Amino acid sequence: MRKALPKEYDPKSIEPKWQEFWEREGIYRFNWDDKERPVFSIDTPPPYPSGDFHMGNVLNWTYFDVVARYKRMRGYNVHFPQGWDCHGLPTEVRVEQKHGITKTQVPPQEFRRLCVEFIEENIKAMKEAMKRLGYSMDWSLEYKTMDPDYWRRTQLSFVLLYKQGRIYRAQHPVNWCPRCGTAIADAEVEYETREDKLYFVRFELAEEPGRFLTIATTRPELIPACVAVAVHPEDERYKAFVGRRMRVPLFGREVPIIADEMVDPEFGTGVVMICTYGDKEDVRFVAKHGLSVISCIGEDGRMTERAGEYAGLAVEEARGAIVEDLRAAGLLEREEQLVHEVGTCWRCHTPVEILVREQWFMRIRDLTDKVVEKAVEEVRWYPDYMKWRLVDWARSLEWDWVISRQRVFATPIPAWYCARCGHVIVAEPDWLPVDPREEAPRIERCPKCGCEEFRPETDVLDTWFDSSLTCAIHAGWPDRPDWRRLFPADLHPSGYDIIRTWAYYLMVRHIALFGEAPFRACLINGMVLGTDGRMMHKSYGNYVPASEPVERYGADATRWWAIAGGATGSDIPFRWGEVQHGWRFLRKLWNAARFVSLQLSDYEPSGPEPELETLDKWLLSKLAKTIEEATEALEECRFNMALDAIRRFTWSLFCDQYIEAVKHRLYGPEKYGREAKKSAQHTLYKALYAIIRLLAPFCPHITEEIYQALFRPYEGHKSVHISPWPEPPKGYPDEKAEGDGDVVVALISAIRREKARRRLPLNAPLKRVVVFAGSQERAKAIRACEDDIIGTCKIGALEVRAEGGEGVQVEGYPGLSFSIKP
Ligand SMILES: [Zn+2]
Ligand SMILES: [Zn+2]
Repeated sequence: MRKALPKEYDPKSIEPKWQEFWEREGIYRFNWDDKERPVFSIDTPPPYPSGDFHMGNVLNWTYFDVVARYKRMRGYNVHFPQGWDCHGLPTEVRVEQKHGITKTQVPPQEFRRLCVEFIEENIKAMKEAMKRLGYSMDWSLEYKTMDPDYWRRTQLSFVLLYKQGRIYRAQHPVNWCPRCGTAIADAEVEYETREDKLYFVRFELAEEPGRFLTIATTRPELIPACVAVAVHPEDERYKAFVGRRMRVPLFGREVPIIADEMVDPEFGTGVVMICTYGDKEDVRFVAKHGLSVISCIGEDGRMTERAGEYAGLAVEEARGAIVEDLRAAGLLEREEQLVHEVGTCWRCHTPVEILVREQWFMRIRDLTDKVVEKAVEEVRWYPDYMKWRLVDWARSLEWDWVISRQRVFATPIPAWYCARCGHVIVAEPDWLPVDPREEAPRIERCPKCGCEEFRPETDVLDTWFDSSLTCAIHAGWPDRPDWRRLFPADLHPSGYDIIRTWAYYLMVRHIALFGEAPFRACLINGMVLGTDGRMMHKSYGNYVPASEPVERYGADATRWWAIAGGATGSDIPFRWGEVQHGWRFLRKLWNAARFVSLQLSDYEPSGPEPELETLDKWLLSKLAKTIEEATEALEECRFNMALDAIRRFTWSLFCDQYIEAVKHRLYGPEKYGREAKKSAQHTLYKALYAIIRLLAPFCPHITEEIYQALFRPYEGHKSVHISPWPEPPKGYPDEKAEGDGDVVVALISAIRREKARRRLPLNAPLKRVVVFAGSQERAKAIRACEDDIIGTCKIGALEVRAEGGEGVQVEGYPGLSFSIKP
């Protein structure tokens, strides 16, 4: 072995060097032509290009990068793509904010250009960050959902699902964000706790002027859309009123009093008004009782002409005006403070309205049983309990998925309408990709009425409609005839916060298209908490950009935090202490590797295997168990357990105990024998080579540096990351050697501790040490290691007696003691 490592561990110079090397040498390239190695495919999340690769992303990416690296070393041909989920509200809202505009203030083409420009800049920044952290994606597989080639596939799935009858167009209540001016899906509604007022409003009985029932509502501005008043059928207070009619205050219209079990007699007064629509419950009432619909709020969040004199007011203004008018008319009985949940837009946090709109939907509820069955029976979840998040969500859905959006920057819906009869024309597969806003359908005339003029669909697709097809698209659908080779994906990694969106939509979409679950396993990461224990968020002041720990301690130490921070799936607090701990470990490893590199200058690993000493066998036995433990943990995606096993072995057994106990053999072959030195060299080589391979998935840079300097000349693999995963050395674990070694190591530690207690330097010579073994067998084991005990503890004369005796007790070994005569 010829090359010694430099003295200092310097991640700043090491890390970028190997990142360039990996890229240049194509170390992580997926080989499409390789038909021999099994494939392993990762459904990498295409992130929204916010420009900021944050600590949450670091956690997420480190998990599946560890899996990718581990599988490569296990001999898999790993397919690890990276895409970008460009479209949708997040981008549009940011572009609107950046330029101080709304989507309607610039022509669509111009708006689109601004979005593309914004996305390209952000992708560049995030890609840099991903490379800087050493993630092993195959960049030749990179894609962007805003590219027409990606649209083509999104649109093709739309066309196929339409032909199946699974996509339809209909009038239906939808969640609507008045600020964003678009329909949004259930999954995009976030519930926030807000403090509002509960208003108690008096409704007059139509047939009995002067007699009132009081209803409680948080939304008096919906009074113009009141279509009924409801009570619980068993509510003794109101039973007698069912079937009679009430007068809507301020508007004078008459509405029926209906009975329904959905009414909660405990809420407010037990009498509620049904408006079209205050919430989803209203939608259920209207459907069940066949009530009519009055739309008093428009798409822009202002009152419509159905609100009479309140028309044109914003919702909040209308609420104020109506409350004042009720008060003036003596119809406002009282107000109370109320803390309740309000549905808001996930992007801009504006309260969501429920409006009835003509939209495109995907029929999903009839697939719920299949989704549940496959999620539970066919998909492995890490951790297992996370599957219930998907199951509960799927079962809770009441509405079909609204897939159209009234926005600009998104995949166009490939459809047109006949200008005369309104007949819907959906593109044929060979017309794709197509933007109907710019191209006419490829037919002469309307098949229904013969009209030759068409109107384009200007609505666009939900961005989840792009990203919920990744498993098939990563595999090469529909272009590669062999796409099934990579489908279903072997691993779908995701945060638990998007199980209800991404994982659910992937499931329902692929089941609808291909009849199969899109992935075999689902790896869930938790959220990253700030040092104050709250979610890490820019607005909380606890935000640490991922570049900061990387800058200070390197990518390997930052990745260490992500893995060591806690169990897979749990929320992980960001702690500088954990990053520093990782950095200290890596420095310790570096120093040990440097020591090894200096000690192996005259060692040839290809030579005949020497006869090993007990302590060498002891280390190899511990190593064998560490390899078994780490492998088992990695197979179960218990990353922190795997890393912990490797850390314990490396730090305390290899560095602190073994190296210390064999130094005398390496330094003094004249005294302790050439064979004993060779035995130590052989063991150091084997153990360190195994350590860096075990650690390679977690800390890819330092392990590559050590591999290239010390092992590549002998092992021959171009990179540690394509070297084979370590196997337990042949013949190990060796329980006998391990048990004997444990006694010797404990004895050496106890003698060293005793030196420290007597305030002697560690290298101080001891004239004579007598060991009382407590049994013949133990005495034999200790005698076999006499040289290592003498050499490590600097003992002049060592006497080992089989009987028990006086002196210092060795912890953990009753009957074993020693006495020192300095
Ligand atoms: Zn919004
Ligand atoms: Zn027509």
